[in-house]
Amino acid sequence: MFADPVDKASAIEEEARQRAIAKARANSKPTILPKGSCYNCEEPLNNKKLFCDADCATDHDKAERAERMR
Ligand SMILES: [Zn+2]
Repeated sequence: MFADPVDKASAIEEEARQRAIAKARANSKPTILPKGSCYNCEEPLNNKKLFCDADCATDHDKAERAERMR
């Protein structure tokens, strides 16, 4: 027995949407976790930050982008 055509269409739509989400996730940069120090200058951080300040975040982001260009 076949499913209702409307159900089938929405199932296909749902599948396409899931695929688009998976693709978007694959393209986004991997999440980095706080490691206790600044990812850019290694300055110790006692909070759950990735960078000590916005400049370091920008610098690291630029460096990472340059890394991927190679
Ligand atoms: Zn820093």
